[in-house]
Amino acid sequence: GMTAMTREDEGLGRLIRIRGARQHNLKNIDLDLPKDSLIVVTGVSGSGKSTLAFDVLHAEGCRRYLDAFLPASRFAFGAPWRQERPDVDVIEGLSPTVAIQHRRLPADPRSTVGTVTEISDFLRILYARLGTVTCPACRVPIRAHTIPEMVQEVQRLPEKSRLLVLAPLAPVTAADLGKTLVRLRREGFARVRFEGWVHLLAPLPTLPRRSTYDLQVVVDRLVVTRDAARRLADSLELAAQLGRGTAGVAVLDGGEVYFSQNRVCGRCGWEAPEPTPQLFSHFHPEGACPSCQGLGYGQKAKPARGKSSAEEAPHWEGEPCGSCKGSRLNQRALSVLLDGCSFGEAGALDLPAFRRWMENLSVEPAKEAVASGPRREILRRVDALLDLGLDYLHIGRGAGTLSSGEAQRLRLAQQLNTPLSGVLYLLDEPSVGLHARDRERLLRTLFRFRDAGNTVLLVEHDLEVLRWADHVVDLGPGGGTEGGRVLYSGPPEGIVRCEGSLTGRYAGGAKKLGFERVSSWAAQGHGVLRLTGAKGRNLKNLSVAFPLGRLTCVTGVSGSGKTSLVRDTLYPAVRNRLHRGNMPELPYNGLEGWEDLQGVFRIDQAPIGTTPRSTPGTYTGVFDLLRNLFGNLPEAKARGYRAERFSFNTKGGRCEACQGEGRQRIDMVLLPDVFVTCPACGGSRYEEATLEIRFKGYSIADVLHMTVAQALEVFQNLPAIRNRLQILSDVGLHYLQLGQPGNTLSGGEAQRVRLARELGCRVKGQTLYILDEPTRGLHIHDVEKLLWILRRLVQQGHTVIVVEHHVPFIGCADHVIDLGPEGGPEGGRVVAEGPPRVLAEKGGSHTARALARFFR
Ligand code: ADP
Ligand code: ADP
Ligand code: ZN
Repeated sequence: GMTAMTREDEGLGRLIRIRGARQHNLKNIDLDLPKDSLIVVTGVSGSGKSTLAFDVLHAEGCRRYLDAFLPASRFAFGAPWRQERPDVDVIEGLSPTVAIQHRRLPADPRSTVGTVTEISDFLRILYARLGTVTCPACRVPIRAHTIPEMVQEVQRLPEKSRLLVLAPLAPVTAADLGKTLVRLRREGFARVRFEGWVHLLAPLPTLPRRSTYDLQVVVDRLVVTRDAARRLADSLELAAQLGRGTAGVAVLDGGEVYFSQNRVCGRCGWEAPEPTPQLFSHFHPEGACPSCQGLGYGQKAKPARGKSSAEEAPHWEGEPCGSCKGSRLNQRALSVLLDGCSFGEAGALDLPAFRRWMENLSVEPAKEAVASGPRREILRRVDALLDLGLDYLHIGRGAGTLSSGEAQRLRLAQQLNTPLSGVLYLLDEPSVGLHARDRERLLRTLFRFRDAGNTVLLVEHDLEVLRWADHVVDLGPGGGTEGGRVLYSGPPEGIVRCEGSLTGRYAGGAKKLGFERVSSWAAQGHGVLRLTGAKGRNLKNLSVAFPLGRLTCVTGVSGSGKTSLVRDTLYPAVRNRLHRGNMPELPYNGLEGWEDLQGVFRIDQAPIGTTPRSTPGTYTGVFDLLRNLFGNLPEAKARGYRAERFSFNTKGGRCEACQGEGRQRIDMVLLPDVFVTCPACGGSRYEEATLEIRFKGYSIADVLHMTVAQALEVFQNLPAIRNRLQILSDVGLHYLQLGQPGNTLSGGEAQRVRLARELGCRVKGQTLYILDEPTRGLHIHDVEKLLWILRRLVQQGHTVIVVEHHVPFIGCADHVIDLGPEGGPEGGRVVAEGPPRVLAEKGGSHTARALARFFR
């Protein structure tokens, strides 16, 4: 009866039940996930983790959420997700979903850590309510009359003085006010003087009814009597509201006082700004620095000439703007001080210092009430950022300069501010960019989400995080078509006993990363690349030697200066010399040893193309060879078809209905584009005649549909083609289709396609490869493949420098340069240097301790 029903309902309520999921490579999987728990989904790259988390669970969550609205309001929403139903039979027990993925923060270059977290919004209120204006020239604080002060002054006037209470409709400049007063006098008002403070003396009745003085509204006309004080105060209050804080009293007949909240320095006449919240917004014309328009930096440096610039997305903006010194605000805004500190100075404090300042802010007791709300909101937000290990940030930091992992943690912190329960949070590798030390703080935060009654699902590779999960799902066994099955679903302890799970074998210690070797590079007479006197950001006049022809890891806790050293100093320095470029670089004294290098190449995880036109085949060059092969076939020659005809990127042989894309876009106005298979070519990308040319029975379109492994078999007797394919297979991408659109590859897949191209082109001379956290998104099994590639580059005589947190990876490097000891101002020094085993023995830094545990 009822009881049974309820119990069953409860049972259902505690599970998310997925039946028959077939999206992308998922093999019709069934899966039960416990609610109110921390779930980790793991598996090798391409096994289907993101597909399960984002393309199935989140897509369905969003779809149901939107279905609750009328169809019409869907359009108004401009929803950033697809409306399509994911390919799954049933999902029961699904809660509302919130996905916190690795995406860069808003593209507006004016966004800052403060604006994204709303800390700036609350801080602006504090500045507007409590700030004191200081004249920049005379350095005296400028005070406006408060309403009680005005009432008091007016009551000292002779009885029957007549008053005019004025409220400008918009904030008035001193010049405008002056002009108005001059006009008032012309129209019959007596004696108008203007000198800093304004005095006005005029007969009342002559004020025109229809005010030509659009600056002002007359709020009230009063005669001072014994009991007028109350009405006066009310009128002034109203005037202040109408004029958004600017009110005045003109005394007519006899008096000689004009009160104003318009602020002018009594000594030099400098017109002080009115501290409204907009004044402190660099998005607002009232607050923004006029020379950089709130960007905080000067003219963007031209992109460097030379090698492909697609890789070189601007990652930092160059010199701070000379006029606002990077604070983004104008001088008027910066003239307002809160407890002695301008808005710009507050924005440059690192978060712990900012927090201390906020907490100890000296506020007059009378103003405590208006200060406490915003201050509490600010502290709450700062604490959330500190909990996530972001203490080295400052609120003025450009949001676009954050790494994707930092941006994700910022978004997590925002979620902490709006506590929800009953939500399914989906996170994409939150441990990325975190030093082993900070991982624990992250986990504690995630536990807080769970304990507040939410389900937290992570796509994660970190075996340490995996141990802390309540429930683990392992997908695999391989990537792409070889993946998409559930190998394990249960508590973390069980995975080590799971047959066929690579994750389990690594977690149980049965498998360890290979390639570990200690070398003493200096003794072997290898050259070094020596950078001296690096002092950008927090770098403390560093001099660092990077061994040439070796794999070096630059390590250290977040904010210790790794990126500043490698990506923003060393990389542009080498590049500017080799390619005579003018990429922005952080300051340093000298660079030696670069003459031995032939090129420098930074490899990141950006997509290999933003359109379907760039595919693993085209990107690695194997497709060029394949086109030549097809162009040289007898049948092609007989018909006069040349190699170009087999390209889907140029006219000639491709389908013109879709211009070789194989699909067509349907414009959905407000919704994201929806694509359908091209009806003309059925998705083959080519016109009929082109497809009639065949090699071993396969058309060029068939070749694009082959996986690397299939192609290896078909083209095994053609060495040039086979070699290129073999490299793709060696780096673990045997499952990718040659024609898979580049924008559907995962970050790790894209990175390996890039590396495969490098391995395939065998350049002469030494190249310097710089990689920023290449293990991001990689299962430990994929990390092994990555190490194998980097080792091969080193064997070919190249130099590889990697910024990395992954402890097993660091353990496999030749040389480690460890920065620290902490993040932000407490970092920027070399705290340890040498082969990883030596570092582990010597100890003394966070990284050394982590390495010691690894080698044990
Ligand atoms: P993981 O997150 O485990 O690395 P994904 O879920 O991203 O794996 O991908 C699983 C498989 O589905 C991969 O082979 C990937 O290339 C493929 N895939 C991902 N997105 C798409 C897409 N939009 N269209 C077609 N295939 C896709
Ligand atoms: P890591 O790479 O070790 O995490 P970073 O080099 O990114 O460290 O940061 C070192 C210091 O420089 C930190 O205090 C950080 O907040 C600051 N910083 C990094 N990038 C920028 C930037 N674009 N603008 C201003 N400060 C930055
Ligand atoms: Zn077509």
